[in-house]
Amino acid sequence: MRVVVVEDDAGLAGALVDGLRIRGFDSVDHLSHGLDLLTSHENYDVIILDLGLPDVSGYLVLRQLRKVSSVPVVVLTAENDELAVVSCLRAGADDYVVKPARVNELAARLEVVTRRRHADDRRPEVVVAGDVRVDLRARSVEVAGLPIALTQKEFAVARVLAERAGAAVGREELMEEIWGKKNPSISRSLDVHVGGLRAKLNRPGLITTIHGFGYRWDR
Ligand code: CA
Repeated sequence: MRVVVVEDDAGLAGALVDGLRIRGFDSVDHLSHGLDLLTSHENYDVIILDLGLPDVSGYLVLRQLRKVSSVPVVVLTAENDELAVVSCLRAGADDYVVKPARVNELAARLEVVTRRRHADDRRPEVVVAGDVRVDLRARSVEVAGLPIALTQKEFAVARVLAERAGAAVGREELMEEIWGKKNPSISRSLDVHVGGLRAKLNRPGLITTIHGFGYRWDR
């Protein structure tokens, strides 16, 4: 897998490149400018993209890139920059990591986004997170070995999130997938079903809210 780190802070970039190499990513390049990525993206299987670049903002680079490529992109963002994260996810970023980026987390997210891209429709049948087990084929959920009774919609929410475990899923995508359409009343229903699902699972932290965007099923 060919990885590129697009980051103008040489110290941070060097640490990420070294850290990823140590974790088994054997081909890791470094670019400092956004425009360099736009002319070389075809050389890479996954991209780590900083938002604060010296020539063009990472967000604009992402917008341009998405016109020509669906290569997985993980955005690097400053702390508490929710707005930027949401814009990037909407513009087609696959995931994000907040700075200071921990290499372990970054490596895990790279694996998830590339696996997701390559798996396409080979979705998992069973997703396990801690003591929560979602059997997508049997349509059942167990917590600590005990079956949990979910409504149809609660299960649908669990299914869509668990299928993409570790990745951010937008509210709009959830609505489209579960209801086949989106509108304000469905949006309110979604909140209710997520609330119900969380209460029944009783595992705080399993379903992370990404404000202004959606949710992530963490593992
Ligand atoms: Ca930067």
